[in-house]
Amino acid sequence: YTMIEINEKDTKELKELSEAFNEMMLDLKAHDENQQAFIMNASHELKTPITVIGSYSQMLKRFGKTREDVLDESIHAISDEAKRMKYLTEQLLSFAKVNREDETFSPEPIRIVKLLKNITKRLETVYDREIELTFDNTDVLVLIDVDTFDQLIKIFLDNAYKYSSEKISVNLHELENNVEVTIVDRGIGIPQEDINHIFTRFYRVDKARARKTGGSGLGLSIAEELANLNDISIDVTSRVNAGTTFKLTIKKVKKNEEVK
Ligand code: ADP
Repeated sequence: YTMIEINEKDTKELKELSEAFNEMMLDLKAHDENQQAFIMNASHELKTPITVIGSYSQMLKRFGKTREDVLDESIHAISDEAKRMKYLTEQLLSFAKVNREDETFSPEPIRIVKLLKNITKRLETVYDREIELTFDNTDVLVLIDVDTFDQLIKIFLDNAYKYSSEKISVNLHELENNVEVTIVDRGIGIPQEDINHIFTRFYRVDKARARKTGGSGLGLSIAEELANLNDISIDVTSRVNAGTTFKLTIKKVKKNEEVK
């Protein structure tokens, strides 16, 4: 028979190879489990409104023609739940989009005050509520991708709108290397013990309340990914019944780095 000689160098290489392979398989497994958990959560979230719509349809079928109160209640409930499903599927879609690497992503030097003015103006009309914008330098430039940044700010403003009923403020403050953008609401706030979890997918502080506001628990996890893409860091401070502030720290484009 032929003898295969395995010397020490080969053994070491083989060992390294098998270790690398193991690590790869573990990564893949973790990724799979993560995806599975995501799909399970998403299905669960979609199942609730479908169940509600189903039972109200049954009620309509039985009593809709004879009882006006049932008719009214059912129509409202079905339309609310349909809205909720629409929101949820939109969130799921944008979640899937953020996670795709082939999406066009092109960071450019942007005059952030002008961009924030546009975004807040647009949303003021949608919410029919005042969004105050303050800033200390109109010309400051940041390197961001406009589309994802727009999406990111909208997530924080949507939350400020949902979880408060007063004026929302957006403040821009220029530092030496960074720009700080704070989104401030004077709403229900987030309990201290929940703050560390709010960026987790599908996490909601108060499920019953969140159902009423039509939340999905996906917004902030999308925001975190969008922020990472743009090299933006996020801080939260909040006091129950006083309000919440999200602070975004964005790198400034220095004078000598300016393209235009
Ligand atoms: P949702 O779609 O439920 O709003 P998010 O991921 O955007 O999901 O937020 C997660 C949870 O964090 C929310 O359900 C809510 O409990 C809490 N939260 C987020 N923003 C605010 C805010 N501005 N004020 C109070 N609570 C907030």
